[in-house]
Amino acid sequence: MAGMADTYIKETEEHLVHTYNRFPVVLERGEGVFLYDTEGRRYLDFAAGIAVCSLGYGNKELQDAMKQQIDLLMHTSNLYYNTACGAAAGALKRITGMDRVFFTNSGTEAIEGALKAARKYAYQKGTGRYEYIAMEHSFHGRSIGAVSVTGNSHYREPFEPMLPGVKFAKFNNLDSVKALVSDKTCAVILEPVQGEGGIHVSTGEFMQGIRKLCDEEGILMICDEIQCGMGRTGNMFAWQSCGTKPDIMAMAKAIGNGAPVGAFAMTEEVAQSSLAPGDHGTTYGGNPFVCTAVAKTVEIFEKEDIVSHVREMGEYLKERLDHLVQSKDSVIERRGVGLMQGIRLSAPPAEAIQTALQEGLLLISAGDNVIRLVPPLVIKKEHVDEMIRILKKIL
Ligand SMILES: *Cc1c(COP(=O)(O)O)cnc(C)c1O
Repeated sequence: MAGMADTYIKETEEHLVHTYNRFPVVLERGEGVFLYDTEGRRYLDFAAGIAVCSLGYGNKELQDAMKQQIDLLMHTSNLYYNTACGAAAGALKRITGMDRVFFTNSGTEAIEGALKAARKYAYQKGTGRYEYIAMEHSFHGRSIGAVSVTGNSHYREPFEPMLPGVKFAKFNNLDSVKALVSDKTCAVILEPVQGEGGIHVSTGEFMQGIRKLCDEEGILMICDEIQCGMGRTGNMFAWQSCGTKPDIMAMAKAIGNGAPVGAFAMTEEVAQSSLAPGDHGTTYGGNPFVCTAVAKTVEIFEKEDIVSHVREMGEYLKERLDHLVQSKDSVIERRGVGLMQGIRLSAPPAEAIQTALQEGLLLISAGDNVIRLVPPLVIKKEHVDEMIRILKKIL
């Protein structure tokens, strides 16, 4: 409602735990790739709720399906079957090529489940393995387990001691991974494209090297596709472009286009020797409401061939950003793939992001001095042009 922004901001600041430095904008509604605040101002969205709202805002087909499910039933617990979770899991199997799925309520929980599944596998096989190898500059979430494998001391230090047995290798450096392998290693965990850490793309060689190493040493490979997955890189999942397949993978963010849902999936081989009844659970996970969102989101992705659109738009965005790098001294380099791009600036991007906001463009940062561009996947060339026009003006 117009004029109410100050009230909403005051309330939020007064009542919530102060864990976020929010932008002074109260978002009220969305349409396509635009968001509107309570003052009626329009914003071009290159954040997508942190790579979540891939179909943009106001997708009628998705919203109708979700509304219908609310009227039928939102929650059952996992003590009973429901009408939506089988189909949603089937849809995720189809697009991942994995064999079995467990639904969670967030990315963090998908990572926790993946970590637990790897340990249970080792336990079941009697190998005594429990150590994880993770990557520097990684991000896997905020629970103690997920933070323990997050390669950024800023997230870990205040909560130490962390899980024992976690070692950090250099991303895209296979020798540094090999150097950390022991007979106690149960899993290697990595993001095929690091998001939060500053948009770092793995090489196919690195991914294949890890796969081979894991096979030789009896280690499980876990891919965190929470941010880079679901079409964003121009493949449904980023690992699919590398000629490798993980044993366990984590998904979340875009799989429900904003419904709070995550999942981890595994091969049949892992599933047969891993989590069994009583080992893991969640009250909400896989409820009919979020599963309707997942099944419908996947259906729309396939029907509208979002992945091809991402390839085309990703190429265009890349071209425009490369040109920006050449024409602006303050922009040092572009990194990324598809519609998961970053530009590294010569200085911290906070001020530029603030100015962009005033110009009606939503941007977010990542890693060191990087502006992260993760728009809804349904953007068109004209939106890229508009974003570039604003960047040119403010950088
Ligand atoms: C966002 C993110 C997570 C955590 O997901 P939440 O839903 O915020 O718990 C984990 N890994 C990656 C790569 C992410 O981008």
